[in-house]
Amino acid sequence: MQTLTDRFGRHHNYLRISVTDRCNLRCLYCMPEEGVEFTEASNLMSYDEIVEVVKSGALLGIKKLRITGGEPLIRPDLDKLIARLSAISGIEDIALTTNGVFLAKQAKALKAAGLNRVNISLDTLDPARFKFIARRGDLKRVMEGIEAAAEVGFHPIKLNCVLLKNVNEDEIAQFLKLAYEQPLHVRFIEYMPIGHDDDNWKNHYLPLSRVLEIAHEQKYQVRRREDVHGNGPSEDWEMKGGIGSFGLIHPISDHFCKNCNRLRLTADGNIKPCLYWVDELNVRHALGDPIAMRDIFYKAMDIKPENHEMAAKLLNGAQTHVPTDRRMSQIGG
Ligand code: SAM
Ligand code: SF4
Repeated sequence: MQTLTDRFGRHHNYLRISVTDRCNLRCLYCMPEEGVEFTEASNLMSYDEIVEVVKSGALLGIKKLRITGGEPLIRPDLDKLIARLSAISGIEDIALTTNGVFLAKQAKALKAAGLNRVNISLDTLDPARFKFIARRGDLKRVMEGIEAAAEVGFHPIKLNCVLLKNVNEDEIAQFLKLAYEQPLHVRFIEYMPIGHDDDNWKNHYLPLSRVLEIAHEQKYQVRRREDVHGNGPSEDWEMKGGIGSFGLIHPISDHFCKNCNRLRLTADGNIKPCLYWVDELNVRHALGDPIAMRDIFYKAMDIKPENHEMAAKLLNGAQTHVPTDRRMSQIGG
C-alpha cells in the first residue's frame, strides 16, 4: 500500500469533502449575512467525480472521510453519495458535519447508507441567541435533529460549539452540564480567522482555557483522555461520574499541526493541503486519469506547510505565506 506522507513525516489518511458551499444558515463566524456568492450548481463536483477522487485517495491510504459544506444536507440525495463512498475498498469510516436543521428527516436514510458518525453544530441552547448567531433557522429543528440522530443509533454524537467572547461564553457551564448528563460529546472550538474580517474575530476570539476554568469552578473532576487520538486536533476530556465528555479544539492558543493527518476537497474541486493557507490543487484536469490524480495527492504532500499561523494574526505578527481568502463555508471546516 502506498502512503501519503508529507515533508514533515505526517501520514495522511483523512479526507474532508465539502459537497456544497451553500447553506441555509448564516452563522456570524462563518459567512456574512447578505451578498454571499455561491458556486454555480454546474461547477460543483458531481457525485461521480467525488467518488473518483476518493477511489484514488483510498489507494494511497485514505481511510476516513468527513462530509461537510456549506450545509451538506441541502445537497440532494446525499445518502446515495454516502452509500457509494462506503462501498469503496479501504474506506473504513464516514462522518458528517451538519448544522442539524434537516437531520431529523434524513438521519435514518444516512445511517442505512453507511454513515458512521455525526457532528452537529450547536453554539447555544437559547432560541433567541440561536437567531442572533445563525441569523436564520430555528434551534428547535436542530434539537430534533440531535434526537433523531440518537434514535437511529449514531454514537457518539458530537456537538460542535464555537465559543465567542461576549456572545455564548456564558453558556459554557450549561454545555458542560449537558456533557455530564447526556451521552453527548461537546467539542468546544476556538473561533478561527478564516477568510474573515479581522475586527469581528479579534473582538470575539476566546481561548479555550476558559472552558477548563469553568469546569473547575463548577467542581467537575475532569481528566484528559490520553487514549483518544482519533482524528487529530481534538483534545478529549472526561468528567468523573459523567455520562458524556467534552473536547477542546484550540488551533490558535495551541496549534494542532504536528499531528495533522487531513486533506480537504472543496465543493468546486480543489484539494487544500492546509485549511489556512491559500494553496490549492485543482483535481478537474486529472479526472479520468488515475496517474494524474495520484500525482495531485503527492503534490499536496510536497507543498503541505508545517503549520498555519492563525495566532500571528491575533498578535498582528508578520506571516510567512498568504492566507486563503475562502470563507469556512467554502472549505468545510
Ligand atoms: N454547515 C455545517 C455545520 O455548520 O456543521 C458544516 C460546515 S461548517 C463550515 C463546519 C464547522 O466549522 C462547524 O462546526 C462550524 O461551527 C465550524 N466553523 C465555521 N466557521 C468557523 C470559524 N470561523 N471558526 C471556527 N469554527 C468554524
Ligand atoms: Fe452554514 Fe455551517 Fe457556516 Fe453555519 S457554520 S453558516 S451552518 S456552513
